Amino acid sequence: MEDRQFCKIANHSVKTVILYENDSTISFLDHPPLSKWDAAVIPKTHFVNIYEIDCSTLNEATRVAKLLAVKLNEKYAPLGINLLQNNGEYAGQTVFHFHLQIISRYDDKYVKMPGEIALSRTVVDAKVLEPMAKEIRKTFD
Ligand SMILES: [Zn+2]
Repeated sequence: MEDRQFCKIANHSVKTVILYENDSTISFLDHPPLSKWDAAVIPKTHFVNIYEIDCSTLNEATRVAKLLAVKLNEKYAPLGINLLQNNGEYAGQTVFHFHLQIISRYDDKYVKMPGEIALSRTVVDAKVLEPMAKEIRKTFD
């Protein structure tokens, strides 16, 4: 999908299956879906990723994702739902317009990602992690 496709969806120059829309956010069903269904929640303003998006816009997109996750869960009763947000090609980002994905989970004939991630945890001594956390905490001072 080209980078500006989500901008086109946001300004309605490309037709899509819209789930919800307000002044700053739009949500639509992904096509083709990653699972039985998945929904994207995007800001109408173009931000590439988590590094660029402002907190107010992020909060609104997250609020909408929460509301939709509850409604989709009640209506379609998946076995579970993942909320996914990728930043950078290496992390699996394929559309470079910030988006949250609400991914339905039914069974193994659909996506298997979370189990694969859980199984691939790395064993690291906590002593290695503490200096890293300390450096980040300093940036809040
Ligand atoms: Zn865009």
